[in-house]
Amino acid sequence: MKKHNFSAGPCILPPEVLQQASEAVINFDDLDLSLLEISHRSKNFVAVMERAQALVRELLEVPEGYSVLFLQGGASLQFVMAAFNLMKAENGKAAYLNTGTWATKALKEARRLGEVVEVASAKDQNFNYIPKNYEVPNDADYFHLTSNNTIFGVQIKDFPQTEAPLVCDMSSDIFSKPINVSDFGLIYAGAQKNMGPAGATVVIVKDELLGHTGRDIPAYLDYQTHIGKDSMFNTPPVFAVYVSMLTLEWIKAQGGVKAMQKRNEAKAQAMYGEIDRNTCFEGTAARDDRSTMNACFLPKAGVPTERFDELWKAAGINGINGHRSVGGYRASMYNALPQESVDALIEVMQNFEKEQG
Ligand SMILES: *Cc1c(COP(=O)(O)O)cnc(C)c1O
Repeated sequence: MKKHNFSAGPCILPPEVLQQASEAVINFDDLDLSLLEISHRSKNFVAVMERAQALVRELLEVPEGYSVLFLQGGASLQFVMAAFNLMKAENGKAAYLNTGTWATKALKEARRLGEVVEVASAKDQNFNYIPKNYEVPNDADYFHLTSNNTIFGVQIKDFPQTEAPLVCDMSSDIFSKPINVSDFGLIYAGAQKNMGPAGATVVIVKDELLGHTGRDIPAYLDYQTHIGKDSMFNTPPVFAVYVSMLTLEWIKAQGGVKAMQKRNEAKAQAMYGEIDRNTCFEGTAARDDRSTMNACFLPKAGVPTERFDELWKAAGINGINGHRSVGGYRASMYNALPQESVDALIEVMQNFEKEQG
C-alpha cells in the first residue's frame, strides 16, 4: 500500500495523475512514442502547453491583461526575474516582507539590482508569525510577499492593499484556495509543492507592468521574451508541464480551488485540533497565522520521540520530520493528501500519548 506522504516538496501527487503520467512516458496520445521523445513543437505537445495555461486561467479566474507562463529554474529563478523585470534601472527600489527562508533569499537577489526596503521581518521569533503593522513606501517599484512559509508553517491570510504592485511567491499554496489575481502584479510558484513535479514554474504577470525598467534584461530573464514565444522560447520542461497539466485537470475534476480549500481547511482543522489537544506536542506557529498547508509541531519538554518515530514509520507515514531550522515535525497537507492520511497521523499521535500515560 502507498505511504501516507506528508513530504514538504517535492510532494504527493494524485494517484490518477501518476498513473496517466507513467502511461504517457511509454505511449503518449496513441502516437506509439513517448511524451519524452517527441518535438516540443509537435501539435500534440503544443496542445499540452496550451491546455496547461488555459487551466491556470480557468482555475484561478485570471483576468484579461495577464499572461500565464510555464518556465524553468524554479521559484529561485523568479527571485531574480521578478527584480530584473520590475525594478527600475535608475533609483530602483523594492519593498520586501521578510517572513522566512524563501523571502530572505528573494530579498537578497533584489539587493543586487537596487535598493531593498525590508518593511518588516519575523526573524526575531524564528519566523513563527506574519508581521502585520508595517508601511510600504509608495514609491517602491513593487512589494514582494511570500504567501505561505513552507518551512515555519505560517501563511498570509489577508493580502495588503498597497500602491506598489504586489509580487507574490505562492510556491507552496497556489491552487490550494481561490485568490483574487487582479490584486497582484506578479504571481509565481515552483510546481513541486502543490501543482506538479519539480522542473516547471508557473508565472502569472500583469502585462502592463512590463517593459518600463530601462534595464537591459538578458533574453531568458525577460518575461516579454517568454510571452512573445508562448513559453516556447527554448525547449520547455515537457514532462513537468505535462504532469502539471494532469494535476490541474484533477483539481478541476474535484471541483476546482473552492473544493480544494474546503478539503484543505478540514484537514488543517483536524491536524491542529490534535496538536492543541495532545499533551505530548505543541504547535510552533502563531495561531492566527497557521498554515493550512504545513503544520509544524514540537514534542513538549521531556517527551521522548524515539518511540513516536517508530510508531509513525510503522503506520506507513512518510516525510513528517521538521525542517532543520525548526526541528520537531512538519505535516505538509497539500491538495493531493487525503483526509485518511491526516486521520492516520492523528491516530498515531493519540496512541503515542496513551503509551506515555
Ligand atoms: C520550495 C520553495 C521555494 C524554492 O523553490 P525552487 O523551485 O526549489 O526554487 C521558494 N519559495 C517557496 C515559498 C517555497 O516553498
